[in-house]
Order: sequence, then structure tokens, then C-alpha cells
Amino acid sequence: MSDQQFDVIVIGAGPAGYVAAIRAAQLGLKTACVDDFTGKDGKQALGGTCLNVGCIPSKALLDSSRQFWNISHNFPVHGISVEGAKVDLGTFIGRKDKIVKQFTGGIGQLFKANKVTAFYGKGKLLGSKTGGSNQVEVTGKDGSKQTLSATNVILASGSVPIELPFAKFDGKAIVDNAGALDFTEVPKRLGVIGAGVIGLELGSVWKRMGAEVTVLEALPDFLGAADADVAKIALKEFTKQGLQIKLGAKVSKAEVKKDGVHLTYSDKDGEQQLVVDKLLVAVGRRAYTDGLLANDTGVKLDERGRIVVDEHNHTGVDGVWAIGDAVRGPMLAHKGSEEGVAVAEWIAGKAGHINLDTVPWVIYTEPEIAWAGKTEKQLKDEGVPYKVGTFPFAAIGRAVAMNEAIGQVKMLAHAETDRILGVHMVGPGVSELIAECVVAMEFKGSSEDLARIVHAHPTLSEAVHEAALSVDKRAIHKGN
Ligand code: FAD
Ligand code: NAD
Repeated sequence: MSDQQFDVIVIGAGPAGYVAAIRAAQLGLKTACVDDFTGKDGKQALGGTCLNVGCIPSKALLDSSRQFWNISHNFPVHGISVEGAKVDLGTFIGRKDKIVKQFTGGIGQLFKANKVTAFYGKGKLLGSKTGGSNQVEVTGKDGSKQTLSATNVILASGSVPIELPFAKFDGKAIVDNAGALDFTEVPKRLGVIGAGVIGLELGSVWKRMGAEVTVLEALPDFLGAADADVAKIALKEFTKQGLQIKLGAKVSKAEVKKDGVHLTYSDKDGEQQLVVDKLLVAVGRRAYTDGLLANDTGVKLDERGRIVVDEHNHTGVDGVWAIGDAVRGPMLAHKGSEEGVAVAEWIAGKAGHINLDTVPWVIYTEPEIAWAGKTEKQLKDEGVPYKVGTFPFAAIGRAVAMNEAIGQVKMLAHAETDRILGVHMVGPGVSELIAECVVAMEFKGSSEDLARIVHAHPTLSEAVHEAALSVDKRAIHKGN
């Protein structure tokens, strides 16, 4: 095989693409991965949105800001007082950058260890085939072009933020997620358009750092994708923390002036004005396929610009697959990674597996929010008979000892079979607790199964145990 001929070429090295490439190489396939992301140091940075400007840097800042917030909001409860605490923003952002570099560099090492060849440039799937192989044109940063070929090509080009026509990103006053991860000073007034996952996570970061944060959400309901009880508890807690969340707020204008960004929006009380120093626009992301496909590839896009795939992530074009944010399903790193593993295994003739019905969602706010499976509303709409069990963290010894006794676990099980259909949590450590429920759901477990399993005491996981007991009205530490 020549240097330009591979078994598999992956376009995109985000959590979908780099994982697919490593798994394909593990399975003995000669694999290349093409990615065009440039890091802060001007060099290729593998890992895509997630590692560079998404999951990892946002969690680094969430953790740093939480430490700072705790000094004034949690330490006093424990009898600890700290005078004059302040943050050095250079260190705050620098720590995040170091973590990003560690992880993006780590992917490079994993590629070397697994013999994945990385190409730095823009990959384009060509329509023509040579000797039955698919062709990928790679345009380097210097404009140089080379053509690679492979029996199988996996498209993993990810997503980009949606831009509002009246509030275009300028990287200074009006920013996307990348900009909001790199402020050089804490904005006095931060406006956020969109009370979704990014708005809440990054809004929380800058609120904890001292910004006055106003979140404008177009829809009348808060966190519509989450269970209504969870959304209600979360909204109350975020409001208590000082996040000003305005629902049913339709923004029509954002003008950058000397004294800040002047926003015009309308809500139930009519037209409103708001002036902020920085504006984060976080109204969702769109699949990114710009320049990815030659006109004659036969790969189809749906009405939302996503690459059309079947249940095996196959595009319908011989040897062409697509995974991650660029295709249907939740835009989550772990969903893309699992699709990557499954596709590599299907290519290698193995039994790949991905179940989109049990993909867990986590929002890393304080309290955290996590869920998997159906919401109560979805079950009602679908006419599925169900039972509900809930348990509050206020009755969990560990949560009280931690001074984090907020929220609850809610479990939904089928009324006749008792199979767990959904679990919805808001509270401390729920990002980890949801894993147990996903395992149970993947094994088609019942609430009875979780109710009969010994959970360590005192741990937060007892809330899952008690919620499972509560489905059958036999929780021990609350009235049923
Ligand atoms: P991406 O990560 O977007 O990677 C695609 C890569 O392909 C990029 O490097 C891009 O430059 C490259 N590329 C695109 N087109 C081409 C081309 N033609 N040629 C060469 N290279 C190309 N998800 C979670 O699960 N948990 C979280 O906590 C979380 N936090 C997030 C926080 C923020 C602020 C954001 C923005 C997102 C977050 N996400 C989180 C979502 C997560 O980042 C995405 O779901 C995930 O990155 C998608 O992976 P992907 O591999 O499909 O695409
Ligand atoms: P989102 O879909 O989570 O939220 C966007 C919000 O903006 C919605 O509530 C929507 O109603 C609102 N909106 C849309 N248009 C609006 C407008 N014109 N004015 C006011 N509000 C408007 O999108 P996001 O926060 O940009 O995040 C994108 C995706 O990235 C997420 O859906 C998720 O898949 C992923 N992500 C995941 C995590 C995580 O897993 N913890 C973190 C961040 C991002």
C-alpha cells in the first residue's frame, strides 16, 4: 500500500473522529485522520470542538470558578472565613489552556502509539473513485493539495455555533463559546442569548467570577428538553445564585456601541432594552459540512444540513460513513465517540453497537443536571403507562454533610413491566450517578433491580436507590 492509500480515512479529529481512527487502527486497519483545527500556538490541535473549545475547557473554568464561589458562598457555613480572596484571570485562563494542550497533545501521542497517520488540512470527499477506492483531497494550510484514497471514509466534521443575523460574532463584544472561554477580564455585565447548555454553563462560570449575568431565552419554558420537575428546581436554584433568566424574550437587535452591546428584545411586558459589556450568543449549533463534499459524491444532507445516515451511520454511498455532531442525534461528545467505535467495528466486520435511546445528558451547572431516557411528558404524549419514584437529596446524609442537599432523583418505570424508562436528576454529583441508571437501562433493568442492589452508605448514590424504592412506594427515608 502506498503512503497515500489507506483502509480508512477519517475526516475530523473531534471525539467522534479521533476515537473512530484509534479503534480502526486497533482493528488492524491502516488509518489516516485529517483535521484542520489550529490551536492557540498556531499548530495543529487534535480533539475538535470538545477538547479545544468545548467540553474540556468549559469544565476547567467551571471547576476554577466553583472554587472561587465556594470561598464566599460555602466556606462560611463550615466556619471557614477567607478575607480578600481574589482571582488572577491570567492564571485562571492559563490553567484551562494548559489542560487543553495536555489533552490535544495526548491525542497526537495516541495516534502515534496506534499508528494512525494525522494530516493537517481541509479534507474533501471527492465523487470520483479510483480502483473502487474513495478519494479524499487534503488542502494544507499553505494551499498545497494531495489526494489520499481509502476503501472507507468516515465523515466526522462536527458542528459550529449558529450565528444570529443581527448579532454577528466579532470575537470582541459579541462572542461564541470560544470567545467566552477566553475573556481577558471579567465582564461587568454579561448578556447571554439562549438558556441552553452553553448559556447556563458559561453563564455560571462568569456569574461566579463576579459578572452580572442576564440570559435571554426565546422560549417560554426553561430547559424544554429536560424533565419539567428538574427544570423547575434548576431554574429556582440558578435564580437564587443571581443568574437573571428571562424567558419568552425575543431579541431583535444587538448594536455594538462605545459603552457596550445594546440589546432590544420583547417579552410579555413589551419591548425591553438591555446594555451589556459582552454578549455570548449560544442559540444552538449546526452540523458543519462546508467544503467537505464535492458536488458529485452522492452523500445527502437533510433539511437541517446534517449528513443523512442510516442506523449503522452509513450514508448510502459505498464505503462512506458519518458520525458525531454532523449527523442526527444529540450533539454530545460521548455519542459521537460511541458511533466512531461502532463504525470502525462495522468496517472491520465486527458487531458494532450504539443505542441512542440511552445516551446520557449532563449539564455541569451547580447543581448538576443529568438524565437518560424518556421524560414524563414524553411518556404521557406516547400514552405509555408509567410509575414515578422520587427522592430528595435533602434526606441524603452525605449531601447534607457536604452542604449540597439540593435537588432530587426521579425515576420513571413502566407501570406493568417495571422496566426503567427514564431517570432525571438535579443535585450534587449527578453527572456520575446517572451512569448506574444507564447501565440498568441498557440491561433492560427494572426499578426493582436497582431497589435490590446494595448501595454504600453514606453516599449520594443512595438517592438513586431510594428513588427506585419509591417507584413501588417503599422508600425508607421519606413518606411515600
Ligand atoms: P467536533 O468536536 O466539532 O470536531 C470536528 C473536527 O473536524 C474539528 O476539529 C474540525 O476543525 C474538523 N473538521 C471539520 N471539517 C473538516 C474538514 N473538511 N477537513 C478537516 N477537518 C475538518 N459534549 C459533551 O458530551 N459534554 C460536554 O460537557 C460538552 N461541553 C461542551 C461545551 C461547549 C462550550 C461546546 C461548544 C460543546 C460541548 N459539548 C459537550 C459538545 C461536544 O463538544 C460535541 O458534541 C463534540 O465535540 C462533537 O464531536 P465531533 O467529533 O462530532 O465534532
Ligand atoms: P442548546 O440547543 O442547548 O440551547 C440553545 C437555546 O437557545 C435553546 O434554549 C433555544 O430555545 C434558545 N434560542 C434559540 N434561538 C434563540 C433566539 N433567537 N433568542 C433567544 N434564545 C434562542 O444550544 P447551545 O447551548 O448553543 O449548545 C449547543 C449544543 O452543544 C448543545 O445542545 C449540546 O448538544 C452541546 N453542549 C453540550 C454540553 C454538555 O453536554 N454539558 C455543554 C455545552 C454544549
